[in-house]
Amino acid sequence: MTTRAECVARDVADPLAGLREQFELPADLIYLDGNSLGALPRAVAVRMQAAVQQEWGQGLIRSWNDAGWIDAPRRVGNLIAPLIGAGIDEVVAADSTSVNLYKVLSAALAIQRAQSPARRVILTERSNFPTDLYIAQSLARQFECELRAVTADRLIESLDARAAVLLLTQVNYRSGALHDMVSLTAAAHQAGAMAIWDLAHSAGAVPVDLNGADADFAIGCGYKYLNGGPGAPAFVWVHRRHVDLFEQPLSGWLGHAAPFAFAEIYRAAPGIARYLCGTPSILSLAALEEGVRTVRAAEAHGGMPALRRKSMALSTLFIELVAERCANLGLTLCSPREAERRGSQVSFAHAGNGCAVMQALIARGVIGDFRAGLTGAQDDPDTRDLLRFGFTPLYTRFVDVWDAVEVLRDVLESGQWREPRFAQRAVVT
Ligand SMILES: *Cc1c(COP(=O)(O)O)cnc(C)c1O
Repeated sequence: MTTRAECVARDVADPLAGLREQFELPADLIYLDGNSLGALPRAVAVRMQAAVQQEWGQGLIRSWNDAGWIDAPRRVGNLIAPLIGAGIDEVVAADSTSVNLYKVLSAALAIQRAQSPARRVILTERSNFPTDLYIAQSLARQFECELRAVTADRLIESLDARAAVLLLTQVNYRSGALHDMVSLTAAAHQAGAMAIWDLAHSAGAVPVDLNGADADFAIGCGYKYLNGGPGAPAFVWVHRRHVDLFEQPLSGWLGHAAPFAFAEIYRAAPGIARYLCGTPSILSLAALEEGVRTVRAAEAHGGMPALRRKSMALSTLFIELVAERCANLGLTLCSPREAERRGSQVSFAHAGNGCAVMQALIARGVIGDFRAGLTGAQDDPDTRDLLRFGFTPLYTRFVDVWDAVEVLRDVLESGQWREPRFAQRAVVT
């Protein structure tokens, strides 16, 4: 049996423990939802104050030059690049993950249409995040392609002569299962398809090596493990071999080769800058820049590999403690048992009402979230309603894991989750 004192001792010995000081976290709250919205970096308030009062208030329009506003998408992209195995000037921070997916999936389909017109299938995972499925559905109609959405175990066999693009989220938003980017990218290439990776639950949580894996395109989210704040800009990466081959369809003026020439005809900028569209959200980019810095701050203590080790230790501890303390209380583990096969989250199904259990936990100061399953056959894992718990290694402590499991045990054992006030589902779960 693990004791609370042992968890406290692990925090004392943890070389990454000091990184928590970078964040403004409410006292008496255990925040296990950094996979949905990262915590607030203390540096953001200071930075926003300066961006609003000096740069906007005093500098006004001059700040596009003087405060480097115009360069922010590229600058923040370069700050993210080492976290995902991208090179300098290969990433820009812009728009949302959904919009960036539209750009890169259009690019991949257009390149395939020109080079291998018989390839007409976008292959993805059925339990991919809905926005990825919806954007793919729209582009499948536009390009007269078929969207083939299969379970993870059927991906490889589905890479046939008609496959144009393999579109995967590296860490599944439901189960937290982690795909092997190297082998799946290689399998896609072997079959003649391109690989697009959504790094929404990877960037800042697991080490990623896009160039090492020889991936084709990638996108990812700024407000999860990168701590950029609600609705933070996303990022986009394109392999150098493709970047100048295609003009992405959202041909706004800031992706133009010379925006301030105000030319009549669009001419795409060379390199990743062509994946920009319109005027960037400067205040949000300023917050994201500080958010990414909180992750880069780990470099002094071992960087992404050290964060990954701690993340695996936290989620493993959570699974072990739930097994010890919540046995026979109706929970079923829905994440891979081996830490190497998980991202930085753990999901459980509950035999009664997972949504009510999560709301009871939140009322007790343990914040995770709830994800409804697809409708379908009972024995299908994609239909399970899930309680999700995220373990951001920058600020989650081992003792938080212990305390969270203790509250979970109490909510389940006492039947508190059955109280009518927890039966009502909020708009955002
Ligand atoms: C969080 C997430 C998104 C978010 O997309 P937005 O455009 O920011 O709403 C997209 N894809 C995946 C896989 C995600 O987990």
